[in-house]
Amino acid sequence: MKISDFKGAFKKNTVTIESIDNVFDDYYVIALNKPDNMTWEAGEHGVFTLPGRKVKGQPFRIFSVSCIPEEGKVLIATHANEPISDFKQKLLTMNKGDQVKVRGPFGWFKIQDTTSPVVMIVTGIGITPSRAIIKSIEHEETRPIHLVHSSPTEHLYKETFEEISRKNRDFHPVYTTSKEETIETYTALAKVHGNDAYYFLSGKIKIIRATKKELKKLGIKGSRIINDPYIGY
Ligand SMILES: Cc1cc2nc3c(=O)[nH]c(=O)nc-3n(C[C@H](O)[C@H](O)[C@H](O)COP(=O)(O)OP(=O)(O)OC[C@H]3O[C@@H](n4cnc5c(N)ncnc54)[C@H](O)[C@@H]3O)c2cc1C
Repeated sequence: MKISDFKGAFKKNTVTIESIDNVFDDYYVIALNKPDNMTWEAGEHGVFTLPGRKVKGQPFRIFSVSCIPEEGKVLIATHANEPISDFKQKLLTMNKGDQVKVRGPFGWFKIQDTTSPVVMIVTGIGITPSRAIIKSIEHEETRPIHLVHSSPTEHLYKETFEEISRKNRDFHPVYTTSKEETIETYTALAKVHGNDAYYFLSGKIKIIRATKKELKKLGIKGSRIINDPYIGY
């Protein structure tokens, strides 16, 4: 983490709801309009508030932006697990055109260079910044890009990843549904790429800690592991 990773935290934007889709189970994808002057780097997150709505409890939530500016919108996604918080209830029942405020985006979960292999190990809704990162390097064919997405039922954004993998033979998405399968998959990748790769971990803090421990046992240095712990889950 560098001081410059927080530079964007001073930016403020008002965006409006374009659509809210319940894509499966309790997963939602929310598209917001992108003001012309709003930009960000792939992998960053914003702090979102709902102006004019009285929210019980914490009045903001952090969401990673799951698209790149070139897509012409601000895409976020969330998992509204029971009991649904008042913030998410209010957000998910908003209408097209309703306003949302965002501070940022900013963050440290970013591509580090143009040559190192990329291994993304993510759980559930932790997929959100990875979609942006993969979109940002989708045309690169200079290094292997691996995605291991663990989710119990369906895998959010799978169609996007499948489309990219059909065009870019260096991109290898794997969708797992069990802990054992996930560990087996990333262990094999760590054995192949060792400390040549950067390992991107995002999702629940407990799972990130456990994965980091496993990677270190496999000889991966802490400096090659980039985390995005979803504080709050
Ligand atoms: C860098 C970063 C990026 C993030 N990106 C995303 C993202 O892209 N998408 C996303 O969805 N989240 C993301 N998060 C997490 C997000 O900010 C929220 O913390 C998270 O979504 C949980 O919010 P909530 O409103 O559902 O739950 P909260 O109200 O904050 O509660 C936390 C948990 O406790 C449970 N809970 C609450 N009340 C009760 C109760 N009475 N009894 C039992 N259980 C209860 C909730 O179900 C929830 O699982 C990110 C966090 C960080 C730090």
